[in-house]
Amino acid sequence: MKETQAMQRQREPLAKVLGTRTAKQLAKLGLESVEDLLRHYPRRYGDPGQLTDISRLAVGEHVTVMAQVRSATIRTMHSRGGAMLEAIVTDGTHTLQLTFFAKRAGVLRMHEDKLRAGRTGLFTGTVGEYRGRRQLTHPDYLIVGVDAADEDEAVLEASRPIPFYPAAASVPTWRIGRAVRTVLDPLGDDYFDDPVPPHLLERHGHRALVPSLRDVHIPDDSAAWKRGRDRFIYEEALILQAALARRRAATQALTSVARPRRDDAMAAALDARLPFSLTQGQCDVGAEITADIARDTPMMRLLQGDVGAGKTVVALRAMLQVVDAGGQAALLAPTEVLAAQHLATLRSLMGPLAEGGMLNGKANATRVTLLTGSQGSKARRMALAEAASGAAGIVVGTHALLSETVIFADLGLVVVDEQHRFGVEQRDELRARGERPPHTLVMTATPIPRTVAMTVFGDLETSVLAQKPAGRAQIATHVVPADNSAWLDRAWSRIREEVDAGRRAYVVCARIDADADAAAGSAGGEDFDGADGTVAPDDEARDGYAPMAADGGLDIGFADANNSADVGVGGTALKEPLNSVSETAAMLGGRPELAGVGIGIMHGRLSADAKEAAMARFASGETPVLVSTTVIEVGVDVPDATVMVVLDADHFGISQLHQLRGRVGRAGYDSLCLLVSRAEAGTVAHERLEALAATTDGFELAEKDLELRREGDVLGAAQSGGRNSLRLLRVVRDAAVIDAARIDARELVAKDPDLADFPALARAIEDWLAPEREDYLERT
Ligand code: ADP
Ligand code: MG
Repeated sequence: MKETQAMQRQREPLAKVLGTRTAKQLAKLGLESVEDLLRHYPRRYGDPGQLTDISRLAVGEHVTVMAQVRSATIRTMHSRGGAMLEAIVTDGTHTLQLTFFAKRAGVLRMHEDKLRAGRTGLFTGTVGEYRGRRQLTHPDYLIVGVDAADEDEAVLEASRPIPFYPAAASVPTWRIGRAVRTVLDPLGDDYFDDPVPPHLLERHGHRALVPSLRDVHIPDDSAAWKRGRDRFIYEEALILQAALARRRAATQALTSVARPRRDDAMAAALDARLPFSLTQGQCDVGAEITADIARDTPMMRLLQGDVGAGKTVVALRAMLQVVDAGGQAALLAPTEVLAAQHLATLRSLMGPLAEGGMLNGKANATRVTLLTGSQGSKARRMALAEAASGAAGIVVGTHALLSETVIFADLGLVVVDEQHRFGVEQRDELRARGERPPHTLVMTATPIPRTVAMTVFGDLETSVLAQKPAGRAQIATHVVPADNSAWLDRAWSRIREEVDAGRRAYVVCARIDADADAAAGSAGGEDFDGADGTVAPDDEARDGYAPMAADGGLDIGFADANNSADVGVGGTALKEPLNSVSETAAMLGGRPELAGVGIGIMHGRLSADAKEAAMARFASGETPVLVSTTVIEVGVDVPDATVMVVLDADHFGISQLHQLRGRVGRAGYDSLCLLVSRAEAGTVAHERLEALAATTDGFELAEKDLELRREGDVLGAAQSGGRNSLRLLRVVRDAAVIDAARIDARELVAKDPDLADFPALARAIEDWLAPEREDYLERT
């Protein structure tokens, strides 16, 4: 793309504009160019009349406070030699001590002179504590009417909101503000190209780029910065949606083979032999997919449906439509274990329809073939041959199926199951496959709130399988306070009743041993071989803050999937030791209610054989109570299980508890889930549990989860750094803006696919899709 002068202006290095010294300081914050600096928006705005509430400062925090000086005294320190200046500043009620040390008292005079009683200033530093008093040591500060250059004063003058920038100890917020104003003040309104086209500014009542930058950086009043911030939120949404609209358009420009459904072949025969009738949802989604595949533009559809919603049969119906039309279908699972499970499921659903070429196979039947890396070479050769000849209408495997040199006679449909790692890049790969790319159906059980789907999967059409097949059991969920022993006693007797009725019970603990690190066995989720091989998440994801986008996405629907040990959210509970599998198993063994009941244990440190044996004893009823870590979260299917007690439930995330709860109520018996928690009413942790008790709807829970996340900061990690990341957009809060931007973006791209008339927007998209960003998308 041709660089216009305005574009070059944006990329101008700060050193040229501000001098190398200031530029070097700003570089510490990752700000290198004029654009970086101007896009470094204030984090919040201070009300100038309003002093900071000092009682709320936490030790260890880097803060900037607005306060009034009460006193400043220099003392000579006889014991240590040297001098010390102690100043007290106040918000009117509480005080904060400022401390400066120097070899000689003279050096401190300058501070004493500025820090006169009654003056107001901004003080910045890391909060420390000395003899029970909070203090800042050697704070950087700016006194109103003294230090400030003229323009600082303008900012500090009584009527203007004070911008507080994301700052560093060595670069205080007012220094950033001063640099911003130096850059911004002289600019004419048309100095930069605006990525938002004028007609869209007009449509939404937003101001142009430079005036809006002034609104956020040098606001006259709070209405100004709010107006400016709204504009930049919209801008981010528009860039994102335009990027996605272009991907979508690129797909639609491709040609695929149309495979209309036939009513006289396998797809219809399957419907006739299904042991159940399809739900309305399965019919509706099926109709959408049938129509998609019948067209000659490649389908790119995301199918979301909670665990047990019945996605497999929807996929199978689509695959058979393609096979009936002479093509082949590939079904990709995330692990070999799940691929093998799918093979068995498909074969049993299809019966003779899967026995093509066999003696007793139907004339129009096909074959379902498994193709995996760990297969013996003979089996693999046969599978490859069947794929290449077209004898296998359906090939089941892992993602490797696509990257390897597997040849298909005529691949018409790719179904990707549980697509956690199936990001933009893989989608692009599929699109690029051959001259006529296959239709693609991506399926996920992780509920993705609509706005997140729109943001991260905006290039896909989405379908939702909301309702589950009828006849599923009710699961009653209750939050049980851990200190209520009457409730707990009742829980153990309930387990006894269920066991006596031939059922099973899980008791889930956050860790394995009493002395083990809480994190080791807990919320993070272990890998249970033989389950679905879910990868244990990064520890990092546990800080409860940035997990979603950071660790990529589909965990997005349910960020906390992995960060359940959401430190601090639960409040007090962390300080108490968490219940462990070994202690709990011993405790239950001694409970009178459970006398004579076999109690098994299960956790990730057991060998694969031991795990399998433990599961077998549990399933058979030899040990009808299983005390376990979250290894049972995925893939475990013991139909007779009807009770789940989760200890320290406040240490698990919403999604994890939702998945855990999915282990009971699988055979149509009404079931019970007890969430035992020490979280106090009114805390977020408690609210999460109440949300779980209120609904078993995964989508509703995902929405709730997003709301409860601090700031609803779904794309949190993506915002932390680089100039290309989202800064202001919040997926939940800004749903309406995202909606509007999506409509605008699709309209723009429809008229002007290359955005030739909107070069600034095109450039913003390019920046947005710079490597770090691609990386983010890829992991979703
Ligand atoms: P998921 O959406 O989690 O992949 P599955 O496709 O594995 O769910 O379906 C879960 C179970 O529900 C399977 O045993 C499947 O045979 C069954 N099932 C699917 N559709 C229906 C239906 N319409 N009525 C009754 N059972 C169904
Ligand atoms: Mg499934």
